[in-house]
Amino acid sequence: MSETADLLLRGARLTDRDGLVDVAVAGQRIVGIDTTARSARESIDVGGRLVTPGLVESHIHLDKALLGDRVVSTAGTLEEAIRLTGEAKRAFTVDDIRDRARRVLDVAVRAGTTAMRSHVEVDPIVGLAGLEALLPLREEYAPALDLQLCAFPQEGIVKAPGTEALLRRALTLGADLVGGCPYNDSDGLEHIRIVFALATAFGVDADFHVDFADEPEHLHVREIAAQTVRAGWQGRVAVGHLTELAAVPGFRQDEIIAEIAAAGVGVICLPATDLYLMGRRDDGNVRRGLTPVRRLLDAGVPVALASNNVRNPFTPVGTADLSHMAFVAAVAAHMGTPADLRALLTTITLHPARLLRLPDYGLAPGCYADLVVWDCAQPEDVVAVLPPRRLVIKRGRVTIEAHHEVRQRWREPHGAVLSSERSGHRTMR
Ligand SMILES: [Zn+2]
Repeated sequence: MSETADLLLRGARLTDRDGLVDVAVAGQRIVGIDTTARSARESIDVGGRLVTPGLVESHIHLDKALLGDRVVSTAGTLEEAIRLTGEAKRAFTVDDIRDRARRVLDVAVRAGTTAMRSHVEVDPIVGLAGLEALLPLREEYAPALDLQLCAFPQEGIVKAPGTEALLRRALTLGADLVGGCPYNDSDGLEHIRIVFALATAFGVDADFHVDFADEPEHLHVREIAAQTVRAGWQGRVAVGHLTELAAVPGFRQDEIIAEIAAAGVGVICLPATDLYLMGRRDDGNVRRGLTPVRRLLDAGVPVALASNNVRNPFTPVGTADLSHMAFVAAVAAHMGTPADLRALLTTITLHPARLLRLPDYGLAPGCYADLVVWDCAQPEDVVAVLPPRRLVIKRGRVTIEAHHEVRQRWREPHGAVLSSERSGHRTMR
């Protein structure tokens, strides 16, 4: 029996099987993955292209993105990035934040992102302006992307009086979860305690920026793992950066990773920022400063790669396209075999979906139809060659349809012109 589908992707290649299949969608969900002939209201032959679940951006800062035209960092250190961005933040307005956020969201959607967690700074400098700017975007972008907002105390909690009350207010106003930043506080352990108290009081997840240094000077992740277990918050806590873990010997990494795995804490690697900001004091043999991605994956820890920042003092480059992060990680984390490249694809899809606790995510009947059709056939190509996205689908509806035409004029007979070009004048579109 096969009911009429609303959308049928014919001739799709999936990551977990050989041969081509049709992906049938009814309403918001996938209803069939097979070769059964069926009718559909809209049928698209994807010509053997790869189809994956939508990309999941688990860690980005929409509120401080795109500052390249107003802030220039010269030292390139974390301390400078926090200071310069803190100064720029004084001039942020709700409209300014919202405008920059929309520009990033638009490119992320075009890149195939169907879910995103953004940190929103909540502190005595910017108050709740970031939240005020971004909350309406959750509704505005709902047809294209699920947006989670994490109330984030970048300036610390203990050393920035008033922040705890602002976090409380942000959670009351509708922030989805609470963030932490113990490395930038005068009392990191008290900072962690306050974040867990807020998470459990409001019944929300917690997401920490943690252990962001070249040397293992904090290792707050151990305290976070312990408090996660104490609070019964397994599966609800993520930590970003964790670069210090790379600085301890392998056997100690294994001990700490075992604590992280036992606590059900997820790890988010931010390769562009971490490669840019870490190792700044190294004079020769500059460290990579990336958390040990492969070791964490091998231990069964959910590991996501994420963009973090797009064009600001923390990361002066960026496109909000997660395939770029996987490409960077392939070389920076020494993960280049076909199996490694496939594993990296899961760090921008399945793993972050788990961290964000997205319901019914995946490519199976019953899952929401959040999909990307790539201009390639093999899963490892997503990471290796950054293929264009041909279609993006959110909850069963096509959100992005991309056409890209390249004409190799050097191969054409000299002087060949299309009739439309005869006048010699053209406007590029
Ligand atoms: Zn961040």
